[in-house]
Amino acid sequence: MKHLQNVYTFILVLACLSIIGLIYFGYTSNSISTRNKEERSCFKPQKEHQLQSPHGLSYNQPSAVGPDGKVVPLAPWLAPIVQEGTFDPILIDSIYKQQNITIATTVFAVGKYTRFLKDFLESAEQNYFVGFRVHYYVFTDHPEQVPAVKLSEEHHLTVLTVPSSNRWQDISLSRMARLEKLIESRLFNEADYIFSLDVDSKFYGRWGVETLSPLVGVIHAWFYGEPRNKFTYERRPESQAFIPSNEGDYYYGGAVIGGLVKNVYRLVKTCREQLDIDASKSIEAVWQEESHLNKYFLYNKPSKLLSPEYLWDDTKSKPDQIKIIRFSQVIKNYKEIRPNP
Ligand code: UDP
Ligand code: MN
Repeated sequence: MKHLQNVYTFILVLACLSIIGLIYFGYTSNSISTRNKEERSCFKPQKEHQLQSPHGLSYNQPSAVGPDGKVVPLAPWLAPIVQEGTFDPILIDSIYKQQNITIATTVFAVGKYTRFLKDFLESAEQNYFVGFRVHYYVFTDHPEQVPAVKLSEEHHLTVLTVPSSNRWQDISLSRMARLEKLIESRLFNEADYIFSLDVDSKFYGRWGVETLSPLVGVIHAWFYGEPRNKFTYERRPESQAFIPSNEGDYYYGGAVIGGLVKNVYRLVKTCREQLDIDASKSIEAVWQEESHLNKYFLYNKPSKLLSPEYLWDDTKSKPDQIKIIRFSQVIKNYKEIRPNP
């Protein structure tokens, strides 16, 4: 009898526990599904930061230069055009200091172009994102020629070996495909922002966090006062880089591409695809990847533009209206340095 009582008690306890369990489970699963519903209704899925405009849209060419001869501070889609006087370095540095960001910086030094690395890196260490985390990725076919430049504490450098090439056009063109692969394999994990820069260049002034934005292009020093029909865009409709003479905002320099890793990935992937289509038709755009970049920026507007302060040319004298030159292409003997004419 005692034994039977114990069995009843046991069954009763088990039943109570099951009921409590069911109530608890019902409550929590109910609250989870309500929460999901709330999340669905309160938070829209995040959109990528893109400023796309349609092909063939008719509007006046924006002028990069105002009546006073100075570069204007805004593009007509309200993207800032960064230049001396538009930002406070102390303030902007202190804002970005809170963000713990890494800026990947890629340069190609293939063939004789390794000779530019020393000045490029030494001048970058004086001027480029000083006090912020920078990771240089140097693509070269001569890793032994990468100079040992002393880097500041938060700056790092990785050498990536690539095959040599006997056509400068191919070296320049292959940058898009190599950037695409590097972003896929490493930069999504290793960096927040990326800049791809020409190595035949030197820094002469500050280049810092004022240049950061989702998608960044630089206005070319030779064309910022020119009408759009004079821009050296690709004009053959057979090429994917084609831009009609009545379209165009600015002429962008191919020596600087920047932005958030995600946005630059989309850019380099698109340009690489367009370059492949051209190659399959045996067409090479007039200024190679710079032509494709200009096409991309026309229909995918940069969220920030850099004034020609950020991409000058040592062969060009500085007008008074340009206050400071920060980064400039050095003078080079094309015949001597390139593998082919
Ligand atoms: N480049 C290189 N080796 C070459 C040709 C080009 O490494 O033989 C790379 C290098 O990074 C260079 C960039 O491609 O800065 C663009 O080429 P270049 O500067 O000759 O073009 P430009 O600025 O004169 O139009
Ligand atoms: Mn160059």
